[in-house]
Amino acid sequence: MLAPEQDPFAPEAVRSLVRRFGSPLFILDLARIRYQYHALAAALPGVDLHYALKPLPHPAVVTTLDAAGACFDLASTGESELVRGLGIAAQRCIHTHPVKRDIDIRNTLHAGVTRFVVDNPDELRKFERYAHQTSLLIRVCFRSPDARCDLSRKFGCDPEAVEELLRLAARLGVRIGGLSFHVGSQAENPAMYVQAIEVCQQLLERVTRHGAPASILDIGGGFPVSYGGAPVDIEAFCAPIRAALARLPASLRLIAEPGRFIAAPAAITAMSVMGRAQRDGRWWYYLDEGLYGCFNGQLFDHVKYPVTPLDGRGAPLPSVLAGPTCDSIDVIDEQLELPRLRIGDLLVGSMMGAYTWCSATEFNFFPKTRVLALDRGQWVRV
Ligand SMILES: *Cc1c(COP(=O)(O)O)cnc(C)c1O
Repeated sequence: MLAPEQDPFAPEAVRSLVRRFGSPLFILDLARIRYQYHALAAALPGVDLHYALKPLPHPAVVTTLDAAGACFDLASTGESELVRGLGIAAQRCIHTHPVKRDIDIRNTLHAGVTRFVVDNPDELRKFERYAHQTSLLIRVCFRSPDARCDLSRKFGCDPEAVEELLRLAARLGVRIGGLSFHVGSQAENPAMYVQAIEVCQQLLERVTRHGAPASILDIGGGFPVSYGGAPVDIEAFCAPIRAALARLPASLRLIAEPGRFIAAPAAITAMSVMGRAQRDGRWWYYLDEGLYGCFNGQLFDHVKYPVTPLDGRGAPLPSVLAGPTCDSIDVIDEQLELPRLRIGDLLVGSMMGAYTWCSATEFNFFPKTRVLALDRGQWVRV
């Protein structure tokens, strides 16, 4: 994809970045952000992609996607302030957190964003006072026990409950513009999207019956990436989704809210060995990055990141990679075979753009790993 001298993930580039900026580093490649965005946009023609900030809410990602033509999906006051500070037009943003405080609604409206998501009567009532300036989507739930993170466990109303919400909205004078769903992050296969689109097709007719013609279907995020092995063929993954969308009325505006798919492949972490010890016949390597840092996704996001040493010598030996904190849970992997590493040797964690840096802690006062954003080999200051 990139010439080696332009690829910040090439081993020589990683070494030189660590020499210059120190370790650990979260190396963010904006060219890969663009590549992922365009790949998904090509696989879902006619669908407006609203990048969900949650997996990697970094200003360089937002400005890169803005320049590529993306829209944005916000879930908190902090996220609306981030995009607003970067000059993103409010008309290109939606707020999709199904449960919010009145202050969040007001802050978001103040930023100019007028489209929100609800999934229950109490949430709907919060919009009575803002009825003249908002248009809502009803989030419907479709359980997906297959997805690694089944978001429908926590949010969304049953398809059977939509009718009642529509009646309540009509009574309160609140405008419903359409429906949304989220099949769950890192979806295993496209079947859940297809089923959800088909159910929503029926439900959209009811939306129209109760108010103005339904104008939006938002098919959420969940588009998967591969954490080892061949990359996901997103064009093939989306083929059945495209077919299901093609059966909807042409007047319907289609939206998706990808997060992981755009962010995950676009960052690696570079880390180094702080110390080592032999315990029970294995080499333990203590790294300057761990589960309380960017590898928190191994706990919260249920993902195992590929880790590769850039250094090391000799035959592979049973090894353990541990994080820097004093907590014994802070172990990245106990079942590895690695060449013998020395203090200061470098390792790289791949596919680390999504749900990693954003949710890292500063436990033990190890500061959050520094983010370096690069574009075609050039360091982008943000
Ligand atoms: C987290 C989230 C997303 C992004 O999901 P991915 O699986 O990362 O694509 C999109 N929409 C909503 C409402 C979310 O909560």
